[in-house]
Amino acid sequence: MSDFRPFAGERIAVLGLGKAGLPAAARLAAWGAEVTCWDDRPEGRAAAEAAGFTLRDPAAGPFAQDALLLSPGIPHILPRPHPAAIRAREAGRPILCDVEYLFRAVRAAGSAARFVGITGTNGKSTTTALLHHLLVGAGRVSAVGGNLGPAALGLNMLGSEGVYTLEMSSYSLERIATVGFNVGVMLNLSPDHLDRHGSMAGYAAAKANVFARQGRDDVAVLGQDDAFSTAMSASVTARLVPVSGLRAVPGGVWAAGPMLRDEAGEIADLREAPALPGTHNAQNAAAATAAALALGLDRDGIAAGLAGFPGLPHRQERVGVLRGVTFVNDSKATNADSAARALASYDRVVWIAGGIAKDGGIDSLAPYFARIARAILIGRDGPAFAATLAAHGVAHEVAETLDTALPAAAAAAFAGAAPVVLLSPACASFDQFSGFDARGDRFRALVQAMGTTDFGRA
Ligand code: ADP
Repeated sequence: MSDFRPFAGERIAVLGLGKAGLPAAARLAAWGAEVTCWDDRPEGRAAAEAAGFTLRDPAAGPFAQDALLLSPGIPHILPRPHPAAIRAREAGRPILCDVEYLFRAVRAAGSAARFVGITGTNGKSTTTALLHHLLVGAGRVSAVGGNLGPAALGLNMLGSEGVYTLEMSSYSLERIATVGFNVGVMLNLSPDHLDRHGSMAGYAAAKANVFARQGRDDVAVLGQDDAFSTAMSASVTARLVPVSGLRAVPGGVWAAGPMLRDEAGEIADLREAPALPGTHNAQNAAAATAAALALGLDRDGIAAGLAGFPGLPHRQERVGVLRGVTFVNDSKATNADSAARALASYDRVVWIAGGIAKDGGIDSLAPYFARIARAILIGRDGPAFAATLAAHGVAHEVAETLDTALPAAAAAAFAGAAPVVLLSPACASFDQFSGFDARGDRFRALVQAMGTTDFGRA
């Protein structure tokens, strides 16, 4: 048994034993805590029992532990607090997330490893993966995780030279108590998850927690491309670095056009960064670059890192090229807003869309309809999309499934309709797939089976 036991004697109730909960329980126990586990799903409880944990329902009776570690998926306030959260609050005990414990453990170990927290409504995963890529490319030690990839308490302990590059959802940000991020990044804010935060003000307050407890030596990277974000400068106590993918921001990092720059001059030409198309990715690139500069990376290394970034799967992922046609998998676009970002990134596309639409369907995409040479529609709401497109005179057909949509889309593109076939469904996938990733994986496999040259990504 290790003698590093920063939580010796602390009684921690872990609720929610999914991707983050089980590694958290194991780590906290190894660090001396008295851990009890619970999950409302029998599968979760079975996994904890198999791993040798004591099961105890924190909602049954008065809360008897020192803290409640609550999985991000479980609400503690809105829309309805989990009964365990009510019990913990009644007992005056804190409700925390795994990042809080990672931070405490790292500091207890005497490590000055830097903590970077990245949040925003959109672009969190891309910016997190990009910053990690820049750090690793510069020979730095970075552990990447949080909302993206491994849970915080599944990450290695890092020495003082290391960087924790953490994607922070608004839910995890509500559940930190002592963490002060050395670099906090807030990309953008648009109405989302309001059922969980009550109002835009509540949602913004959760996001602003990424800048709480920062000192003067810390850095606050703040997007300037929407009014909700710019209003947040008021909560910044650290050195503020504004970033934009649209316009010059004095004292910050920006791309107004293809050149990414700051006041010292040009840093990189984003036309040489193929995995970062569109002004939304220019914002992500500006934010990752601002964070990288704050962490001491040099400008040439950052430029090389941006160019070599492979991108994330399912987010405007270029999966192959055949006969001059590029196939793009943007399966992560589960709503019209995200699909708009993708459509805005290409002049002319054959568009594959459909599935389970959100309220409003694709009405909001009308400004981009002129870019659509032909639409191939799938899934439950394909026919509804067809009606919208017909009303706007956009050429389209209903193919029902992705397997039949791709050959139709490829044939149209090969015949000269457009140089890009874009899967950006503007819909959830659950009518035909287990999730957006399964839908994107299927698209990639179908494209590769056509004999495309791929882009060499893993
Ligand atoms: P998140 O992790 O916040 O969900 P991702 O990096 O996974 O964000 O990107 C998801 C989708 O959000 C992308 O496919 C794109 O459509 C959109 N997006 C990405 N970055 C931005 C941004 N900076 N601003 C607005 N939309 C964005």
